[in-house]
Amino acid sequence: MKKDKLIFELLEDEQQRQEEGLELIASENFVSKQVMEAAGSAATNKYAEGLPGKRYYGGCQIVDEIETIAIERAKQLFNAEWVNVQPHSGAQANAAVMLACLQPGDKILGFDLSHGGHLTHGSAVNFSGKLYQPFFYGVKKETGLIDYDHLKAVALQEKPKLIICGASAYSRDWDYAFIRQVADEVGALVLADISHPAGLIARGLLTDPLPYCHIVTTTTHKTLRGPRGGMIMLGKDFDNPWGLKTPKGEVKKMSALLDAAVFPGTQGGPLEHIIAAKAVAFHEALSDGYMKYVLQVKLNAQAIAKALLSLGYEIVSGGTDNHLILIDLRNKNISGKAAENALVQADITVNKNMVPFDDKSPFVTSGIRIGTAAVTTRGMKEKEMEQIAQLIDEVVKNLEDEHSLKKIRKNVHALTEKFPLYK
Ligand code: PLP
Repeated sequence: MKKDKLIFELLEDEQQRQEEGLELIASENFVSKQVMEAAGSAATNKYAEGLPGKRYYGGCQIVDEIETIAIERAKQLFNAEWVNVQPHSGAQANAAVMLACLQPGDKILGFDLSHGGHLTHGSAVNFSGKLYQPFFYGVKKETGLIDYDHLKAVALQEKPKLIICGASAYSRDWDYAFIRQVADEVGALVLADISHPAGLIARGLLTDPLPYCHIVTTTTHKTLRGPRGGMIMLGKDFDNPWGLKTPKGEVKKMSALLDAAVFPGTQGGPLEHIIAAKAVAFHEALSDGYMKYVLQVKLNAQAIAKALLSLGYEIVSGGTDNHLILIDLRNKNISGKAAENALVQADITVNKNMVPFDDKSPFVTSGIRIGTAAVTTRGMKEKEMEQIAQLIDEVVKNLEDEHSLKKIRKNVHALTEKFPLYK
């Protein structure tokens, strides 16, 4: 068959965009060539509904081996007792957890989207806010840190069935022990969604939620540097507390409920090519090289925070413990949208983001979110973070000056050229 020139030319363009630009979106990263190869392998052709050794299709003997290796590697990486590597995405992982643990209309307590939480933690526009009854906690205005007193007060008042911690735009560590204590007081389960800092947690650079939270979900493509996807983990398997049933009407352990909630609960066939790529990424994440990488991700986030603070930028919570920072642009009198658009013209990719207590809409926003996972994969260190902070500042000062933005873009290309990606 003739090659699809149209699409492959566009894919080349996309690769070139990634090579030339500065990727600062906190949820993105660059996978290794072998992860990409596994994701583009013949395993894409295989249907394998079910679990290894217990499938609804023939010919699964090899994907069974692949999926078993992925599960074992994930268990080793996170020190987990049980893992399901099939969720197609982070949102699917969270959907499966809620399907397994909740009945429609049950109360859930999550971190407010406008303070840094995720859509799947109870937002009104998401299944989690439509099927369940959401309540929220946020950050303190003065510190930008989670308001744990408020979390406890809402939990005591509403008695949610599920408390969700984890975030998309929060740069600090979490007090999982406190949240578990609150949950025990009100009889709730705790879900930690570690999609963003998973790689840093796996290698011990942030508090491990598994000893405290009943269930942990993550995406595999952010700091973890695997293919796009999700997974669910248990530190310790446990009996389901409310006698919830599998689709077949059986009351089972939590692991079985979660397996059933992934398939047939919320998904059909697992993506075995992606599971193969997850296995490769987990192997990489267990290496010394990856340990060095996550250490540098954290140092780089601190370096870019420091450089931006010294240039007069306000950073929510004043700094970072992980791979990201949230910049409040209100003192610069520009919106997140305007900053994002101008930065894109200079080939610097960030995303506009609500800041806590934002007075602008989610389409405009007062902030931008920056992450160091992708630029660190390219090999950039503290010196380059200072350069990037300068480049961002130049863009912010020349928002509508096309000539200046073009000049900055050239400087961006000069920087990225020194750190080739896939060439
Ligand atoms: N949970 C958190 C905390 C996230 O930040 C994200 C994605 O950004 C997700 C879940 C959803 O992941 P996905 O886009 O793979 O569905």
